[in-house]
Amino acid sequence: MAEDDGARRETLGFIGLGRMGSPMSGRLVAAGHRVVGFDAAGLEGRLPESALPAASVEGVAGRAGTVFLSLPHGEVSRAVCAEIAAAAGRRAHTVVELSTIGMAAARTCAELLAAEGLVYVDAPVSGGVAGARAGTLAMMVGAEAARFVALHPVLRVLANNCFRVGDRPGHGQAMKLLNNFISAAALASTSEAVVFGQRIGLDPALMIDVINVSSGRTTASTDKFPRSVIPRTYDFGFAGALMAKDATLYAQEAAQADVPHELGTLVARIWQEFDADCPGADFTYLHKYLEGRAGGLGA
Ligand code: NAD
Repeated sequence: MAEDDGARRETLGFIGLGRMGSPMSGRLVAAGHRVVGFDAAGLEGRLPESALPAASVEGVAGRAGTVFLSLPHGEVSRAVCAEIAAAAGRRAHTVVELSTIGMAAARTCAELLAAEGLVYVDAPVSGGVAGARAGTLAMMVGAEAARFVALHPVLRVLANNCFRVGDRPGHGQAMKLLNNFISAAALASTSEAVVFGQRIGLDPALMIDVINVSSGRTTASTDKFPRSVIPRTYDFGFAGALMAKDATLYAQEAAQADVPHELGTLVARIWQEFDADCPGADFTYLHKYLEGRAGGLGA
């Protein structure tokens, strides 16, 4: 209980109030935390009700002890960490990285913060916008045990599946990237397979029903296809650009680790080409993109 009370007293910062950051920061507010938030694209429609607005990264770092980041990629996280470290009148002592940025960027962020006496906790998440709203995310933390225990009361508000997967910054990112590689491969393979079935004359909805009681079942067939592909809304809430980023980071890290990564390289290339041809599209739109490449099979 003492840890809970301590965590509640401290003002929390939240930088990056996008699709994930807005609902996650909203959960912290709803759990009784005082939250100060900032987003470079503005706060209107992003900052949760009752959260305190900040006009800059420095404004957050001057008021909050622990600062959460939910940012698009490693370059942005690096720049924001540098701003936090250099902030005048800084109160921030800990930065919790919720973004997917890869192992190398996480280590760089940790080093540049450590040089100024701040702690960096690598804690990427999985489970999408729905999980962010409901607090059912999986969180993969790379941190020392004592640090994890101290932060756990706050982390579990965001993620009821909160794992410490390793000791160091980068361990959480490695876990997240290998998970997202599996997810990226599943959505790509299911999309290709369904387009093949369509060409042969099979019905997409019926194919998914069959797959979901057969050995090809994955989160692509149980979740992404029923929600966003079969209704042809292609609006699951995860950008193709993010999937390309994650698959590319995975292929790079696997190459760096000197393990077999032929499939990783191929999956990364599929998502890179999709992102280049369909900038801004949701990742489920890959199915429609492949229909187009098959000569326009869609409705
Ligand atoms: P998003 O683009 O919706 O949100 C990112 C936010 O960061 C935007 O609102 C943007 O304005 C803000 N931002 C960019 N640069 C900034 C800066 N310098 N200072 C302050 N704010 C800045 O992206 P998202 O979908 O919320 O994803 C955020 C992170 O979470 C990514 O790393 C992503 O890979 C990861 N993630 C996303 C999902 C998902 O389902 N969307 C799931 C798991 C993990």
